[in-house]
Amino acid sequence: MSEDLNDEMAQVSTAIFTQRGIDAIRAKVHSLRPSKEICECCGADIPAARQLAVPGVELCAACQDVKEKQDVHRAAGCRGLHHV
Ligand SMILES: [Zn+2]
Repeated sequence: MSEDLNDEMAQVSTAIFTQRGIDAIRAKVHSLRPSKEICECCGADIPAARQLAVPGVELCAACQDVKEKQDVHRAAGCRGLHHV
């Protein structure tokens, strides 16, 4: 295996795990999926306007906000958030 190829692979792997890479992948995945009517995180209704504004949306605005701020701790952030 050549050094160049290793280098390229490393760059690709790094890109995949950077936030920008994740966002790019998510954007592609989301564009292929319908928006959710119910937040996957807390079960709250997602307004129709938000479903249209964010194709493939899975989270309500509150959960999305938390997720973006605590993306590293996404699972914990989601679990700690309940609109009850
Ligand atoms: Zn939510």
